[in-house]
Amino acid sequence: MRNTVREIGWATRGACRASDPELFFPLAPSTEQEARAKAVCADCPVLAECRTYALREAEPEGIWGGLTVQERRGLRFPSGWRQPAVG
Ligand code: SF4
Repeated sequence: MRNTVREIGWATRGACRASDPELFFPLAPSTEQEARAKAVCADCPVLAECRTYALREAEPEGIWGGLTVQERRGLRFPSGWRQPAVG
């Protein structure tokens, strides 16, 4: 069962709590929006906890821990991660 943000104690200290949720979960992502969200994350006291959580839970949307979905996917599955088939 997935945790809700309310169940994650560190989230209550996130710098994004004072930001518009659309900045972190945009309907139409843009380079400018990503940069603005990442700037908030850069000063966040729980960036490490947030990033670890998002990577572990494979959060499928939004910017978490200063990373986009694509950036998180790249960390979880770096190029060359897949082993060649044996046999
Ligand atoms: S790292 Fe970014 S997304 Fe995570 S709690 Fe902090 S401000 Fe919010």
